[in-house]
Amino acid sequence: MTIKDLIETQKAAFREGVTRPYEKRLNYLRRLREMVADNEEELCSAINRDFGKPYFEAYTSEIYTVLHDIDVHIKNLRGWMKPEPSGSSVATFPSSGLVHKQPLGTVLVIGAWNYPVNLTLMPLIGAISGGNTAVLKPSELAPESSALLADLIGKYFENQVLAVVEGAVEETQELLAQPFNHIFFTGSTRVGKIVMKAAAEQLIPVTLELGGKSPAIVHTDADIPTAARRIWWGKTMNAGQICVAPDFALVHEEVRDQFIEESKTVLGDFFRDDYITGKTYTKIVNYDHFNRLNGLLNSSNVIFGGMVNEETRFIEPTLIDASWDDEIMQEEIFGPLLPLLSYRTAGEMASRLTEMSEPLALYLFTEDSDIQNFILEKVPFGGGCINDTISHLANANLPFGGVGQSGMGSYHGKQSFETFSRKQSVLRKPVWPDPGFRYPPYDEAKLKWFKKLF
Ligand code: NAD
Repeated sequence: MTIKDLIETQKAAFREGVTRPYEKRLNYLRRLREMVADNEEELCSAINRDFGKPYFEAYTSEIYTVLHDIDVHIKNLRGWMKPEPSGSSVATFPSSGLVHKQPLGTVLVIGAWNYPVNLTLMPLIGAISGGNTAVLKPSELAPESSALLADLIGKYFENQVLAVVEGAVEETQELLAQPFNHIFFTGSTRVGKIVMKAAAEQLIPVTLELGGKSPAIVHTDADIPTAARRIWWGKTMNAGQICVAPDFALVHEEVRDQFIEESKTVLGDFFRDDYITGKTYTKIVNYDHFNRLNGLLNSSNVIFGGMVNEETRFIEPTLIDASWDDEIMQEEIFGPLLPLLSYRTAGEMASRLTEMSEPLALYLFTEDSDIQNFILEKVPFGGGCINDTISHLANANLPFGGVGQSGMGSYHGKQSFETFSRKQSVLRKPVWPDPGFRYPPYDEAKLKWFKKLF
């Protein structure tokens, strides 16, 4: 079937209401759950073949997160779908208002390679619970995962409801030319702009989940061993190839030396069994990215780390002595290199951060509520944690998304349902009473009455 025919088939199914009833949505969510749970090992092993993600990481971040989010949707869907009564208004008295949650139609979900299962299925959960038909386009940079998803979705779902289109730029461009009702894109800021431009041609609304340089700030009073442990946990997971990985560490100069020492201890502890790509540590996804990261490494001042192995596409977690103008501070790193910068005052630190593009995440290690409030007020960022990294994604009650250059819109939990639903306001009015003063002909007396009443 051609891409055009697939979209027409899905649009026809949507018009017939195939995905709209509550029972149908519930049934598709359960089917998706079954698909993931029954094929957990195959999915983890496909991801492992793609870029060596260890089983533990694949299970916790790609399987568990998806199953958990499906459970949240199954449990709450009926309540979320209920029309919400609005407050009444004097201007429309007597009347009542209801906000209905309508499905969007046929939606496109484009995924990134670094969490090939999570980043396609998590938005899909919202698309299903919102009552839509959907097309998924996984990343071609994780080909084993993409092929397996296509195979499984083909087995568990009718393609009029849900289908996978595999491919790279050409196929994505063809998809972007179709009359979708919403496009949910996860990927780089560069491609996000291409997607938004294409969507603008047909006035298709978009959600853009992009990247950025997310800072991890360590203030004087922070618990330094914990800060080092949690920052390196976020930086070594998936070998730093995460949109919300701490991109660089911004550490108060008073605790800089201690942070360096604790960092050595933490990594020695995490990888006491050595770095075994595919078992204890993830590979760099391909040679383009390996060479890019190796280039950054070679032009940097290494504090510790710096080992690479081209054959296994291994890059050691590396702490780098950096300054703001260095090459490594110009773009999102997306790898296990952690530039270390210092600051003297919170004001100086905040003004440096506001000069940069808005990051997807920000991590702040301090117990000082004045500093916490100061940063929250001064520095725009998508979302983040105080005294942790990455964990805000694990709470389905927290909407996840970027701001400015790191994206627009959000999802996870109820927010995914909202993202894939449209609010439709309806005012209900009785036929009686029907005071005549809002109808023409207008005169001075009516205006006087209006001003008196409102
Ligand atoms: P990418 O932008 O290169 O690719 C993402 C998707 O876009 C892929 O499916 C790809 O096939 C498609 N694509 C690539 N070039 C295209 C083009 N010219 N026209 C149309 N489609 C095209 O991103 P990536 O390398 O897969 O992922 C890394 C980036 O994604 C990083 O910037 C990272 O921060 C970001 N990311 C964001 C999130 C998030 O949730 N906010 C999650 C993961 C990754």
